Amino acid sequence: MNKIKDGWFGESNQLWPGQAMSLQVENVLFHEKSKYQDVLVFKSKTYGNVLVLDGVIQCTERDEFSYQEMLAHIPLNSHPRPRKVLIIGGGDGGILREVIKHPDVERVDQCEIDDKVIEVSKQYLPKMAESFSSPKLHLHVGDGFEYMKAHQGQYDVIITDSSDPVGPASSLFQKSYYELMKSALKPDGILACQGECLWLHLELIKGMLEFCRSLFPVSDYAYTTIPTYPSGQIGFILCSKNPIT
Ligand code: SAM
Repeated sequence: MNKIKDGWFGESNQLWPGQAMSLQVENVLFHEKSKYQDVLVFKSKTYGNVLVLDGVIQCTERDEFSYQEMLAHIPLNSHPRPRKVLIIGGGDGGILREVIKHPDVERVDQCEIDDKVIEVSKQYLPKMAESFSSPKLHLHVGDGFEYMKAHQGQYDVIITDSSDPVGPASSLFQKSYYELMKSALKPDGILACQGECLWLHLELIKGMLEFCRSLFPVSDYAYTTIPTYPSGQIGFILCSKNPIT
């Protein structure tokens, strides 16, 4: 998957037809096909190191905080006492880093499908990956959908930090996954998931909110701005089992 031409990485993709974010490349740090996806890390001219999976930017050192802080702290600060947290995906470690900051959190389970992402993040994105050494973390390498099936009524907060709904992450955008998350949450639990871009995926977001509202008493969409995600905006699907959240 060669997306670098004349010193620029171009992010063309069927999920955002007719447009492409470009970043100037200083040098390629890592490029390999893992069992699940094409994994690329490059040093950019102005956004620090950049992680790319199957040709799609996952995070850059310059603007990652805008996404990680929102996806982690909205659900954690909406819960009265989030002691046990589950992260699905999030192989770069940025969500884990934010979750660990919360003083009430006692244990974090994380299920990432691709150990290659964790390995390269530790090496090339050390600030994002700094909490993989936390004693509160119980890391599991496997499919988040399957992990969810095996856990019932255990979590105060579940955060799904997934890539886009193609390839290994496609199951994480389906109603059946939200049903499993509902079962995995405690009776007053809250979930937050990567919820795609209003400018590009309005129909997907509308459909997801529709099934979320059939499952949870509270469901909503929040968003942040971030230059290196398509159209500069990304959203979060938020659901609570507690009607007075
Ligand atoms: N914030 C990024 C974004 O919005 O593009 C996502 C970052 S994080 C690197 C996404 C992670 O989800 C990847 O490491 C990928 O391997 C993982 N992932 C994809 N499908 C998964 C699944 N079914 N179960 C667990 N992890 C999955």
